[in-house]
This record gives sequence, structure tokens and C-alpha cells, in this order.
Amino acid sequence: MAGVSLENLVKRFGDTPVIRGINLTVQDGEFVVFVGPSGCGKSTLLRLIAGLEDATSGTIRIGEEDVTRIAPARRGVSMVFQSYALYPHMDVYRNIAFGLKLAGASKADTDARVRRVADMLQIAPLLKRRPRELSGGQRQRVAIARAIVREPKVFLFDEPLSNLDAALRAQTRLEIARMHEDLAATMVYVTHDQLEAMTLADRIVLLNAGHIEQVGTPTELYHRPATRFAAEFMGSPTMNILPVTLEGDAAVLSTGERVSLPAAAPGGKADLGVRPENIALADTGLAARVMLVEELGEARIVHAELADGAVLAVRHGADGPQPSRHSPVKLRLDPERLHLFGQDGARLDLGV
Ligand code: ADP
Ligand code: MG
Repeated sequence: MAGVSLENLVKRFGDTPVIRGINLTVQDGEFVVFVGPSGCGKSTLLRLIAGLEDATSGTIRIGEEDVTRIAPARRGVSMVFQSYALYPHMDVYRNIAFGLKLAGASKADTDARVRRVADMLQIAPLLKRRPRELSGGQRQRVAIARAIVREPKVFLFDEPLSNLDAALRAQTRLEIARMHEDLAATMVYVTHDQLEAMTLADRIVLLNAGHIEQVGTPTELYHRPATRFAAEFMGSPTMNILPVTLEGDAAVLSTGERVSLPAAAPGGKADLGVRPENIALADTGLAARVMLVEELGEARIVHAELADGAVLAVRHGADGPQPSRHSPVKLRLDPERLHLFGQDGARLDLGV
């Protein structure tokens, strides 16, 4: 096993910068997830680590070794892609064994290793089948088995669950988490799905247009987003954002209503952020009107319109009668769970 470190890593395609100077250390045994919107550079960054793209400048280390100019096959990494890329004419056994054969492993050694990973991923009964005789989830497990069997120093995953249906995605996510525990392996995992990032990662690296927006544990990103971009990316429904003017220890909305802050803020214009679960329907608070109620089963999302037309999502308990459409309500924002962002998008800290 080994960690990965990236120093001032830059990748340009022609004149277009796609990775704009990334510095990051992934610890040995850590599960790091790259997350961010489509096109932000996640796959490119992973492919740079794998050696499938050449760095324009900067350094990539795996363990102690500088691998920046080393061929992919000699980096000690295994990559699992969204498209499983199995060999259609080979059965599952031979698909898994293929890389070992190329590496010159003995027949007995190969057999022991293939059977061990097949047991681990619960595909032992499928070893004689061809890929076309497997479901999507089974194929993806074969692709993962093929990666594990080579005992790489680092596992790289590029959206491995995107082709699976929701139930299978949840199950395979658990299997990947368990595999990480069992192997204590270093894993770098790319997804655009913030829920997948939250549930799998030791640390999340949030990318935005080729740079790192924030690095931290899932809890840090969720509860202390460093920027408005991070705040809006993590969480579903997304964080509510309201333009406000700061006056002492209050944020004044465009309706003229005041939201008290836990401490005095610098004056001027800012964005006030509050997550749907940190707003309650109460006896006092911001005046609003119910626009729409989404029933989720375990909760309801109430979309409530303020006097100025802004609509806030409120997570509301599933018990009791559903708030009726168009009815007036009052919204109480939890003062301990407010976020403020300056005009440049950076978090304003209020010492909370
Ligand atoms: P993500 O995986 O986050 O969706 P990618 O890393 O695939 O993003 O792509 C990042 C950006 O780089 C995109 O704008 C994409 O169009 C561009 N890009 C990726 N590969 C190439 C390439 N081979 N040539 C030119 N542009 C590329
Ligand atoms: Mg991608």
C-alpha cells in the first residue's frame, strides 16, 4: 500500500487548462473521493494519477516514488471505470485472471487469488459465465474483482456505480466500503454524486473548474462549507441562499425582515445560507406562503415563498396533517446553523 501526493499538478489540453495546479496528499489507506459537477476535471485528475494522461507540469508521487513520467502499468495502480470494459469472449474467471497471467503469475497462485476475490465479492458461482450472461451489478463486481486481484498499491475508481439502478448502487456502495475496510487499501474514487461522496469518503475533495474548492471530512464539508459553491453542492435539497444586508448582529432580507445572527457580522451585502432541515414551521419568524409540499415518506419538503418571491425549501416532519397549499406559515431559521458568504463566495465566519 502507498499514499499518493500531487504537487502543483497542471494539465492542459492544447491551450485549455483543465487541471489548474492541484496540491493534495492522500494518506496510505485513506478513502478519498473527488466530487464536483460534470466537466470539472475529476476524470482527468484520476487519469493523471493512473498515467493515462501526461501531466503538463507538476509532480505525482505514489508512496515515495515519483511516477510522473512512469508508464501506467508500472505505477502499481488499478482502475475501475464506469463502463466495465470486460472481455466479452472470456468467462468471468479468465477476465479476472487476465492481468495476473500477463504479469507472469503461476497457475496455482492465479487460481488461489481469483477464488479469494470471487468469494469476497460473492461472484464465485459466476466464474464460468460470460459477461453477457451477467446483470449490470454482477459485471461491475467482476470489474472490481479484476482490479483487486492484482493487489495494487492504489485503487482508482471512476464513477463505478453510475450504470447501476438505485438499489444496486446502494448495495455496491456498501460492498466498496466493506472492501476498503477489509483491504485497508488506498482508494481514490470519482463521483458526481454528493451522497456517494458523503457516505464513502474519509475525506472529500470538491473540485470546481480544475481547482480544489474544499478538502475535508464529509461532516466538515456539510457543516462548514468554505464557499457558497461548496454549500450548494453538498446536500439535497440544496442549501437555501438569500441575499441579505448585514447590520450589526442581524441579516436584513429584501423584505425588510431581520434574521438575528449569533454574533455581529461585518456590514455590507452577503448571502445567507440555511439548510432545509434547519428551518422550522413555527409561531414566529419569516412570513411565507406554502407553494408546494413534496411527500418523501419519512419527511416532507415544504416549498415556502417569502413576500419578495424567494422560495425556501423546509424539511418538515412526516407526522400530522400536511401543510395545505397557499396557507400562510412562519419560518424559524435555526440561529446556530446559519451560514454567511461574502460577495466573493467565501465563508464569513461569525465565530460559530
Ligand atoms: P469530469 O470527469 O469532472 O466530468 P473531465 O475530467 O472528463 O471532467 O473533463 C474536464 C474537462 O476537460 C472538460 O471540459 C472536458 O471537455 C475536457 N477534456 C477532457 N478530456 C479531454 C481531451 N482528451 N481533449 C480535450 N479536452 C478534454
Ligand atoms: Mg468524468
